Amino acid sequence: MMVIIKKGYSQDEFQAVMKRLEEVGLSGHPIIGQEKTVIGVVGQVYPELADDLETMPGVDGTVPISASYKLSSREFKADDTIVNVRGVPIGDDNTVIIAGPCAVESEDQVLAVARAVKAAGAQLLRGGAFKPRTSPYSFRGLEKKGLELLAAAREETGLPVVTEVMSVRDIDLIAEWADMLQIGARNAQNFILLEEVGKAGKPVLLKRGLSSTIQEFLLAAEYVLKTGNRDVIMCERGIRTFETATRNTLDVNAIALIREVSHLPVIADPSHGTGKWALVQPVGLACIAAGAHGLIVEVHPNPDHALSDGAQSLTPEKFAELMAKATEIANVMGRPMYSAATAVPA
Ligand code: PEP
Ligand code: MN
Repeated sequence: MMVIIKKGYSQDEFQAVMKRLEEVGLSGHPIIGQEKTVIGVVGQVYPELADDLETMPGVDGTVPISASYKLSSREFKADDTIVNVRGVPIGDDNTVIIAGPCAVESEDQVLAVARAVKAAGAQLLRGGAFKPRTSPYSFRGLEKKGLELLAAAREETGLPVVTEVMSVRDIDLIAEWADMLQIGARNAQNFILLEEVGKAGKPVLLKRGLSSTIQEFLLAAEYVLKTGNRDVIMCERGIRTFETATRNTLDVNAIALIREVSHLPVIADPSHGTGKWALVQPVGLACIAAGAHGLIVEVHPNPDHALSDGAQSLTPEKFAELMAKATEIANVMGRPMYSAATAVPA
């Protein structure tokens, strides 16, 4: 439910509404706008609540939110959310490319990739330090050392860093080093992890679960938003279908649909979405054309020798080609590539 606050309300009236919600075990999430102030109410709303609230002096009226997801819906917030990741805005009228290795493997590897993707125009660096692997015998990441290497790459290139958090155990450590915390597909419905990551005070990059419906994906975002953290970026990374010719089936529909029903930024991951390096460029371009605010792409200096996801990793040369094409498509779509040099200060 949305509580519409009267124009010219007093702080006491506003606080009285927040207090009433708390008393009945609900949480109020205010959006204080120039024109209008509203409070999104989440929790088990009971039938008499609207009448109760509408008798309060600061309240103009109430409107139900029909979607099952609340705080992520456009009914709650009509205008696009822009998430600021260490100075890089994601969700505005620009396109942003996050690139880097699947896993941080060594200092030489991560620095080489960071330099190459920066030179090609990427705005953020990705790299896994804690890796979810299907087999426990596969390379599972350099852990803390990996975080240190990402920070060294950020230091040199200025690129903000995103990396995955797999467990509540590691949140504090990772939040110390990273600029954005990634929830991977395998943890997209790990509800306790979503809540705890939400509380870490960093933007959250939320991957779609391997078998999550779009509604379940938005409800996963809801767990983060409910903590008071408004900085969630949705990432379509493909879902499991009957198709085996590609690793996953990247659901372009989800990009366009989430943009319609939610105010949250949406990016796409054509690397995991296809599993094949040769498909990363065409599918990535399609995602930008479908309205994605950006892409996250795996790049490796020597994909044949990568310790994870080599088959879907681009060489730096192929990544530069993708950047050139993506820049053209982004321009056609009226959402040019973000560049700090040309950004208008907010
Ligand atoms: C990754 O980004 O390297 C990753 C493991 O992604 P996903 O969780 O989407 O499989
Ligand atoms: Mn990967």
